[in-house]
Amino acid sequence: MRWRRTFLLEVFERLKQLGLSTCPVCGSDKLWPHRFPSVVLVGGFPPKISNVPHLETNIEYLVHIGCQVCGYALMFNSEQFRTGDEDILISGLTEEQELELEQKKPL
Ligand SMILES: [Zn+2]
Repeated sequence: MRWRRTFLLEVFERLKQLGLSTCPVCGSDKLWPHRFPSVVLVGGFPPKISNVPHLETNIEYLVHIGCQVCGYALMFNSEQFRTGDEDILISGLTEEQELELEQKKPL
């Protein structure tokens, strides 16, 4: 499972508009979004490591922006950038297949 390419680009552009164009630690402009989500469990750990989370546990998917120079990591809640019911995560498609689908049916 990874971020949908267009969603990740939108988040990265939005963060730049908000002023995140350089690393807050080292000042480098080598910030890069990771293509896979970071997962945070809120409210406790699931009883087993499986795909069935504990009922009182929420799973938040975070966009991870990393500095390529010093390794500083910034995390942003993906729900802050989601509009409507758009699919922001994708599974089972290569990036090339995803791009072909977008070209046939633009979002
Ligand atoms: Zn840095």
